[in-house]
Amino acid sequence: MTTLAFLGLGAMGDPMAAHLARYAAANGLSAHVWNRTDSKAQAHARTHGSRAVTLETAAGADVIFTCLPTSAEVSEVLSVMEPHLKSGAVWVDCTSGHPQAAPAQRERLAARGVTLLDAPVSGGTAGAQAGTLTVMVGGPAEALEAVRPHLAFAGKVVHVGQSGAGFAVKAVNNALLGVTLWATGEGLAVLARAGVDLGAALDVINASSGRSNASQNLIGQRVLTREFPATFALGLLAKDAGIAADLTGEVRGSAPLLAQTAALLRAAERVVGADEDHTAALKLIEQMNDVELK
Ligand code: NDP
Repeated sequence: MTTLAFLGLGAMGDPMAAHLARYAAANGLSAHVWNRTDSKAQAHARTHGSRAVTLETAAGADVIFTCLPTSAEVSEVLSVMEPHLKSGAVWVDCTSGHPQAAPAQRERLAARGVTLLDAPVSGGTAGAQAGTLTVMVGGPAEALEAVRPHLAFAGKVVHVGQSGAGFAVKAVNNALLGVTLWATGEGLAVLARAGVDLGAALDVINASSGRSNASQNLIGQRVLTREFPATFALGLLAKDAGIAADLTGEVRGSAPLLAQTAALLRAAERVVGADEDHTAALKLIEQMNDVELK
């Protein structure tokens, strides 16, 4: 029987693995889950009919999915699983990982007959719950075609190039999220100091050329309400913008706006807190301007 294993039941992984378990049950496949904190894997098994397993057992799967914070944690679990991997398997890494980590991981897996696809996702926790995530895949096209039917959490799957290209596209996408989030926060802070009503200002921006995903779907709902629901950690966004900055250096590119945004998000992570929602980065702008965005 074909076995699918999902490693990392965090804010994204838990609902993604739930879709995988439903798909597996409907198609006569087996769905294994593993999480560092085992109680979450046990709860997943109870709720979604998956099977909580050890890393060594998960290593025997035909398709292995990972959704961990960074490429460093993926390398850690890979070290434990390496001797137990099944030749012919495909490892689909949904982590927003680092393109520079891909070659070494790819070679370690290839030595065991396992193909690595970098397959980070976008769409947030809402997209993970709805099963409508966009998946950007780097690596061999034939390996993607082999696993495509198993991407039960996806609404859109795009092959973006060679190994590492998926990580690169994800990092740049999230750097752009950082740019628009930060810039809109700055603009609203200026307007707040000018005594303008921010709800009205956002209403205008969202019907005008300054709008973005940050203005339309994040700032009104999370910042102006002062709710800052923690669905995507500020530390993870800062990590992604940092990857985009690293990539700029690696290709000897020139992207000062991305580099500056990465530095600002690092500062916000330090001042506001890595575990806060990414929109709480705007609390640093509030401090810089002595205003509250509400
Ligand atoms: P969470 O912090 O919610 O979950 C992290 C997961 O990784 C948990 O299962 C955690 O286990 C596990 N983990 C942490 N450290 C280790 C370790 N050293 N060894 C093994 N497992 C570990 O993160 P998210 O689900 O939000 O993010 C996961 C990935 O998806 C990140 O790369 C992120 O950038 C990306 N992403 C996140 C989005 C979002 O909206 N949240 C959107 C798109 C991509 P434990 O339960 O034991 O802590």
